[in-house]
Amino acid sequence: MLTTRTMAHRIDGKAFAAGIGGEVAKAVHRLRQEYGVTPGLAVVLVGNDPASEVYVRNKARQTVSAGMQSFEHRLEASAGEGEIRALIAGLNADERVHGILVQLPLPAHVDAEAILGAIDPAKDVDGFHPLNVGLTASGQKALVPCTPLGCLMLLRDLHGDLSGRHAVVIGRSNIVGKPMAQLLLRSNCTVTIAHSRSENLPDLCRRADILIAAVGRPEMVKADWVKPGATVIDVGINRIAAGEGKTRLVGDVDFAAVSEVAGAATPVPGGVGPMTIACLLANTLNACCRSLGIPVNADLTP
Ligand code: NAD
Repeated sequence: MLTTRTMAHRIDGKAFAAGIGGEVAKAVHRLRQEYGVTPGLAVVLVGNDPASEVYVRNKARQTVSAGMQSFEHRLEASAGEGEIRALIAGLNADERVHGILVQLPLPAHVDAEAILGAIDPAKDVDGFHPLNVGLTASGQKALVPCTPLGCLMLLRDLHGDLSGRHAVVIGRSNIVGKPMAQLLLRSNCTVTIAHSRSENLPDLCRRADILIAAVGRPEMVKADWVKPGATVIDVGINRIAAGEGKTRLVGDVDFAAVSEVAGAATPVPGGVGPMTIACLLANTLNACCRSLGIPVNADLTP
C-alpha cells in the first residue's frame, strides 16, 4: 500500500525577521522625524572569540541598516572586571546609548553575573539583568531576552493562541531555556523543562505539542522523539565538520528526519538565529521610546 507523507511546514525565520526589521526601520525613521532622536545600541566585546566576532559584526550591520546608531567597544581578553564596569558605567550615562549588550561568553576570569548586573536595567536590551528577569517571571513589562522572544513570535505567528498546549523546553540556561519557559507559561502553555539530568528525555519530548531544543548538541533530537504534527523550534547553533576541511552549521534537531514527522519546524540556519537579531533591534527601539516617555509602537513583548 502506498502511503503519502506530508513534510513539515518549514518556518522561515529569515523572512519573518526581515519583516520585523522593516517595521523597526520605519519606526526609527518616524522617531527621528518627529522627535529628533536616533536610537543607539552599544555592543561590548571582550576578547576575540571567533563566533562572538561574527555575532557582533552582524548585530552592528543590522543596527545601522535599521537606521540606528551602533557603538562598538572592544576590550582585550585580559581586561579586568573594573575596566569592563567602568566602560558600562560610561554607557549607562551616555544619552546617545539606549541599549547595551555585553557579548557572552565573557572570559573565564570575569564574573559575568556581576557585569550583567551593572547594566542599567532600562538599557538592558538582552534582558539578562536580575530586575528584568524578575519582571518577566512575574508577568510584568520587561525587556525580554531576544532569542526566546523570537521563538515566541514564531509560535504566535503560526498558532495564534498557545493556551493549553504542552510545551517541552530542552535546556535550562538563563539565556534561553529558563526565559523561554517563562514566556510559554505566560502564554498559558503547560510547560516542562528538561535538562542534562532529566530522565527519559525522548519520552518527555514525545508528549510535546511544542518542542523547543536549546542544548548545543548537534542533531540530538531525532524523529522518533517528536509527536506527529508537533511544532519543533531549534535554537541550537553547532558547527560540525563537513569533510574536506570544511564545516557547516546544524541545530540541535535532526531537521531532515524530524521534518517527516513534525507539523512545522525551524531550520538551522534561517530559523531562530535571524529572529534573535530582529528582537534585539526591537528591544533597542522600545528602550529608546520608554526612556523618552514616547509611546512604543513596535512593542513585541508579550
Ligand atoms: P548552555 O550550554 O548554557 O545550556 C545548555 C542546556 O542544555 C543546559 O541547561 C543543559 O542542562 C542542557 N543539556 C545539555 N546536555 C543535555 C542533554 N544531553 N540532554 C538534555 N539537556 C541537556 O547553552 P545555551 O546558551 O542555552 O545555548 C543552547 C544552544 O542554543 C547552543 O547551541 C547555542 O549556540 C544556541 N543559541 C542560539 C541562539 C540563537 O540566536 N539562535 C542564541 C543563544 C544560544
